[in-house]
Amino acid sequence: MKDCIFCKIINGELPCSKVYEDDDFLAFMDIQPVNKGHVLVIPKIHKESIVDLDDNLVKKLIIVGNKINKAIRKSDIKSDGVNFFLADGEAAGQEVFHVHLHLIPRFEKDGFGFTFPEGYVDKPERDELEQIAQKIKSNV
Ligand code: AMP
Ligand code: ZN
Repeated sequence: MKDCIFCKIINGELPCSKVYEDDDFLAFMDIQPVNKGHVLVIPKIHKESIVDLDDNLVKKLIIVGNKINKAIRKSDIKSDGVNFFLADGEAAGQEVFHVHLHLIPRFEKDGFGFTFPEGYVDKPERDELEQIAQKIKSNV
């Protein structure tokens, strides 16, 4: 895709610090890391959303992500845990519209985290969970 920065990284028009590459995927350092060792894994095919990615590539995305996870953990990068994070859609925080999986090394008091909506601590009734489960279940 002509105007996609990740496609430009794949075809060499833009630089990256590569950590892994195979026929279908590229993994490289995030240019603005949350913590040191923050890696992005991208499919070489341009798809905006994971919804449009072939299931075999979805599987492989997690497999490649886990390779990087293991590599981070083996390295001396500060990391007591790793977040796998994928923003699917603008409302979910997606800024680059080429599917990418973030691998973010985590440690206590690193300052990163999610914020929760007001009312988060109140658990919904089982009935409500069942109703919502049904809405999803009927579309799986
Ligand atoms: P997201 O908000 O999930 O779409 O994340 C996009 C990520 O891409 C951000 O963490 C950016 O720092 C990262 N990013 C943007 N441009 C580049 C680039 N040229 N090289 C590496 N990472 C990039
Ligand atoms: Zn692209």
